[in-house]
This record gives sequence, C-alpha cells and structure tokens, in this order.
Amino acid sequence: MRDPFPLHDPLDRMSGTAQLIDLDRQHVWHPYGPMPGRQENLVVSSASGVRLRLAAPAQGQEELVDGMSSWWSAIHGYNHPVLNEAATAQLGRMSHVMFGGLTHEPAVRLAEKLVEITPAGLEHVFLADSGSVSVEVAVKMCLQYWRSLGRTGKTRLLTWRGGYHGDTWQPMAVCDPDGGMHELWQGHLPRQVFADAPPGGFETPVDPAYADHLRTLIAAHADELAAVIVEPVVQGAGGMRFHNPGYLRVLRELCDEYGVLLILDEIATGFGRTGALFAADHAGITPDVMCLGKSLTGGYLTLAATLCTRRVADGISRGEVPVLAHGPTFMGNPLATAVALASIDLLLGQDWAGEVKRIEAGLREGLEGARALPGVRDVRVLGALGAVQLDHPVDVWAATRAAVREGVWVRPFRDLIYVMPPYVTGDADLARICRAVLAAAREG
Ligand SMILES: *Cc1c(COP(=O)(O)O)cnc(C)c1O
Repeated sequence: MRDPFPLHDPLDRMSGTAQLIDLDRQHVWHPYGPMPGRQENLVVSSASGVRLRLAAPAQGQEELVDGMSSWWSAIHGYNHPVLNEAATAQLGRMSHVMFGGLTHEPAVRLAEKLVEITPAGLEHVFLADSGSVSVEVAVKMCLQYWRSLGRTGKTRLLTWRGGYHGDTWQPMAVCDPDGGMHELWQGHLPRQVFADAPPGGFETPVDPAYADHLRTLIAAHADELAAVIVEPVVQGAGGMRFHNPGYLRVLRELCDEYGVLLILDEIATGFGRTGALFAADHAGITPDVMCLGKSLTGGYLTLAATLCTRRVADGISRGEVPVLAHGPTFMGNPLATAVALASIDLLLGQDWAGEVKRIEAGLREGLEGARALPGVRDVRVLGALGAVQLDHPVDVWAATRAAVREGVWVRPFRDLIYVMPPYVTGDADLARICRAVLAAAREG
C-alpha cells in the first residue's frame, strides 16, 4: 500500500527504513495515535546538539533542527558530552538497584540538590518514573494528609480550566474537561471542581473579579477540597496560555485561609523554561507540593519528582497508616538520577537565564511576522517558549511537512504551532526555527 501521507522522500520499498516505517505503523502505538498508524513517522537515526539526523531524507532534509526539545525535556540538546559522561560512569557502577531498603549516592545527592534549588520549605522528595505518576503521588499525598488528620471529607481537587497534568487517572481528572484529550472519560473520572481559565497574559494585571471567582469557589468547597492543583504561569499542553504570576499568590493566600493544600505542577515549566528557574519563583511562593519531570534529566531518561513540605510529610506520618504507600519498581533509578544531577549542575553552571532571555528575544523577533498571516489569531512568547495560535485546528500533517521542508522539527496540536527549543540553540538555528513556524502557519 502506498503511503497516503509520505513525509520521507520516495523510499525504496525494500530498504531498511521503509521496512521500519511499515512495521512501526502496524505494531507500535505512538502518542495519541490510532492503530494502525495513519501517517508515517520520521525515522531518527541519531541526534546531536540541536539536530535530529534522519535515517532517510524527508522533504530533501537529512537533518532537522529540533524546535521541541523532545517535549520540553532536552534543554541541553542531544548527545551532550557531560550528560553522556555521567550516564557512562554510572552505567559502569550500576544502572539500577531497588530502592526499598537500599539507597545510593545519585538519588540522595539529587534529592539534596532539588531541596536546595526549589522554593524554600520543600524538603522531602519522592522520585517517580514519569510526570503523570508524580502527579498521582502528589494527589495521594494531599488526600492522605487530610485523612491522617481525620478530615476524611477532604478528597476533591480544584483546578482552573485549560490545564494539563498527564494521562493517568488522577491527572486526567484535572485536565481541561472540554475539548481536551480526556473528554471521553468524563463521567468515569473523579469529579473535581473547575474554576474558569485564568485570564491570559503574563503581564496583564491581576483581575480582581477573577480573584473573587477563585475565592468564591474555594470558600464554597473548602470542606471537601484536599488541594488546588495548577500549572504555574504557563498552561502547556492545555493550550500554551500564560497568566500573571500574581494569580499564584492569590491561590497561595486562599489555600492558607481556607485550609487547602496547593500543588504546583512544574513538570513543563521547571528548570528555566519560563525565564525563572521554577515558575513559582515568578510569584515568590512555596507550594505545599511540587511536581517536576520532563527536563529533570535533560531529556535523557524518564524521571520525575514530587516534593513536599515538612508539614505535609509530618501529617502523613502521623496518620493511622503512617507511610506513603507508593513505590515504583524503578523508583530512584541510579542512571536517571545521576544524569539528572549532571543536568542540573550543567544548567546552573552557566548563565542559563541569559540564554533563555536570548532565545526569548529571538522568538519574539522571529515570530512577530506571523501576526500578519491570514488565519493567525495570536502569537505568544515567554522565556524559551513561543506559540502561534491559529483561528482553526491546525492541519498537523501539512504544517509538519512545511516545517520539515525548512529543516525544522515541530509537532503542532489543536490550533497551535509552538516551539520550545533547547537552550543551546544558536541564533541562526533559532531564526530557522521561526521561519519554519511561519511556513507551518501558512500551510497548516
Ligand atoms: C507532560 C506533563 C505531564 C505528564 O508528564 P509525563 O511524563 O508525560 O507523564 C504532567 N504535567 C504537565 C504540566 C506536563 O506538561
């Protein structure tokens, strides 16, 4: 069967790459995909710096500049000598040992480092194996905290619309309930309390009417709310919307006033992406629980962390069941924690804020032209994140093909063509990424 949507240049049907594409489509699920796959995936043979090398040319390109950091994660680019060295050294010692009854230096040092660099007061670290699991753990911590205190009615969560927190059950229940990826499961998920989406714009002043809306909801549900959970400053996969950090201070105050815990999901925003090391730093607040993931290992391995305050940990540990009953098989994986530690040292050892500012300036300049394109509704940039919002659902295949033709990898969704380049992206590559986004916006 001929591929209805070929991205690669015509492939010899007997070639190894063509065969991989066929097998991939027949047997392998891809994110949010049907089975068998409807479109061909590009085959990547290696990656280095900000470039993905293709196994076979696509639209005349053998390499693509990565505009996605592999979904917010590869902040230092690919095949980085420092991260390679950390992984190789750890591989020579042990790639894994169980975490029950055993511990090891990479996990302990990483936890120490995370406590040091995250907002003051977060003292305890649960190492999970993916972002979604870290959110599950965060929710479990909060529910169990109240249960331990005898407040068994406090089992619900409040969030604002437009969010995304992952694909497992508790996270799905706090993702945007309308038009999101998990609409199918409404009615089966725990019913949570939804506030309106926060007013858009990082610099748009805090709207007192919206703050009142939050107060009204939190006050009305205080007896049944275990926690408020939000993505701070940037709502990512829910729509790439930014809000004033002042709303986080409003939430912090309301949570304190009404006896509700505050979870900040920094899985996407952590490690500098928005221009602050953590988005909570824009607001100067400490959540009770914080989730980290994605760029935690510089995009090398899957690892996430749930941090909490002493109050939350003490509460749990005073309960009738004084333990947190959660323990993934690969908890605290030595390889992943060793690379995470190296990635954080690499980040903090450079002028990361300057690099993010440089990328922000490049994105602002390079994406500005998109405003004038027909079908473009908005252009938004914050830190090393740029989004072009269309006034219609993007034709993902056409937009991808247009970007690939420009030598750039992007992965649009819904009405958005967005980029979050590695911090090491040079100015010429950044300009190229922006040109590709414009091309994708024209054709998508
Ligand atoms: C990606 C993401 C998650 C889920 O992380 P996974 O590692 O994909 O499970 C949760 N929250 C936010 C804000 C995310 O961006």
